[in-house]
Order: sequence, then C-alpha cells, then structure tokens
Amino acid sequence: MLPITYRGRFAPTPSGALHFGSLIAALGSYLDARTQQGEWHLRIEDVDPPRVVPGSADAILRTLEAFGFEWDGPVVYQSQRCEAYAAAITRLIDAGRLYSCDCTRKMLKENARIGVDGPVYPGTCRNRGLPLHAALRLRLADERIVFNDLLAGHVGCDIARECGDFVLRRADGVYTYQLAVCVDDAELGVSHIVRGADLLASTPRQIVLQRALGYPTPSYLHLPVALNEAGGKLGKQTLAAPLRDNDPLPALLLAARFLGLDMPARIDSIAAFWQLAPRQWRRERLPAVRGKRLTCD
Ligand code: GLU
Repeated sequence: MLPITYRGRFAPTPSGALHFGSLIAALGSYLDARTQQGEWHLRIEDVDPPRVVPGSADAILRTLEAFGFEWDGPVVYQSQRCEAYAAAITRLIDAGRLYSCDCTRKMLKENARIGVDGPVYPGTCRNRGLPLHAALRLRLADERIVFNDLLAGHVGCDIARECGDFVLRRADGVYTYQLAVCVDDAELGVSHIVRGADLLASTPRQIVLQRALGYPTPSYLHLPVALNEAGGKLGKQTLAAPLRDNDPLPALLLAARFLGLDMPARIDSIAAFWQLAPRQWRRERLPAVRGKRLTCD
C-alpha cells in the first residue's frame, strides 16, 4: 500500500449551524483529498469560548453526516488542546520571539493603520519589556512571505507592514486562531489546506508561525467564497440560512456547481451524488478567487 501523502482537513468554528459557505469549504476540501486518495479530518475550532454557540458543534457533525461526508480518525476539539498551545507559546518565549502588550482595543483603533486584514499593530509595546502575562505578540522580522496558492498562484505579503506583530495569546488567556490552527495542522500532519479565500490573508501569518515553530508549510488552496446578494460573504454573521439535514441534495448540487463540477440537473440520491462528484472534481475548473486579494507576484 502507498504511504498517505495527502492529509486534508475541514475546520469549522461552532459559532452556529453549518451554512452554504462552509459547505463549499467542506466539499472542496473533501473532494480534493479523496480524489488523491488522501485522508480528510475534522477539527472543531472552539478555541474562543465567547464565539461558541452551545450545541452547534454537534449540529455541524450531524449535518456533515447527513450530507454523506465521511471523515478519518477522531474529531479534534481545539478546546481540549490547550496544553499543546501552551507548549508552543513556551517554545516561542524561549526563542525570544514573544513580547507582552497591554494596548487597549481603543488605543489600537486610534493609532493603527489598516492593512490587508484589519489594523496593523504599530509596535507600541515591542521594546517595553512588560512581564509576559498580558497579551502576547509575535515579533516579526521585516520580510516578504511568498507562497504558491494552488488556485490564486503566487501570493506575496510584506508581513510586518501588512499585519504587524500579531497576538498569539490574548490578555484573557485565550489562544488565538492563528496559533491554534498552526499547531493543530502541524501536529496532525496536514499536507494540504483547502479552505475559503476569506482566510487567504491569514496564511502569511500562519507561514511565519510555522517557520518560528520549525513546522513544515503545507500546500494551500483557497476556494472562492460564495457571496450573498449584497456582495457580502455568506457566513453565520450574515445569517445565511442553515443547511437542512433532511434535504441535502439541493445544497450539495449547488455547492458542487459553484465549485465548477459539471453535475446533471437531477440526481436521485446522495449515494449517486458521491459517486459522481469525485469524477467531476478538477482544480482547474474552479472559478477564480474574487474580492480582497494580497499582492500576487
Ligand atoms: N475555523 C475557520 C472558519 O470556520 C476555518 C479555519 C481554517 O480552515 O483554517 O472559518
């Protein structure tokens, strides 16, 4: 048997029910993995307690099951992985990469420039030598991060200028998405990250963090994001209708067509859908990524 060289994942945040936008990420990551005989893992990104809506993690799993997704291995819950995140923080502290910051949100709002993904930290606390128990930021070098996205091509980002030193552990002790995702993907051995292009601007930060922690950088494919009629991202915040567990086919077909699959107008069963969809999946048929872009070299 060939060794597994492809390990993918889908990593929803349980801040509500699964909606059409996340179905696109689930389907794209699933088909890309399965058509390369890869594994597909599930991770519930419940690292940030205030964002978690009770019951939604279970609801997401039920929906994925009802839609016919089959995942490998146990589901990973970020809320159970704090020891791994703490260990990563300790390594970065030992390497002299972290510093404490007690700037308030208000101060940052008043002083920060807006970069590719929101306010750019101006470095106020960089050299203050505060004890390491407020928020912790990663000290960035002035460098350009370039990576090859399997759909968007070469993406480049002057990370210090566009993002600034970013937070890895908040003042309330909560580990941030950037840290958790990096540690989890590396420890699971994820080789391919297929997710929505709304996260494209996070990737340079995750690459910097992978390098700081000595992790390999996986391949990336950022899928186009479905927009609502007002041109906004179709997400839980825009109250996109939750998917209906008892009627998966229409949403599956719509998501498949959105990803460029040539599907018949009618399909009788989920089994038929899952038989056909992998045969129709081609990265080169994906629609181009629109919207907010980083500079492409
Ligand atoms: N948890 C993130 C979301 O639901 C996805 C993170 C990722 O795929 O890296 O948008």
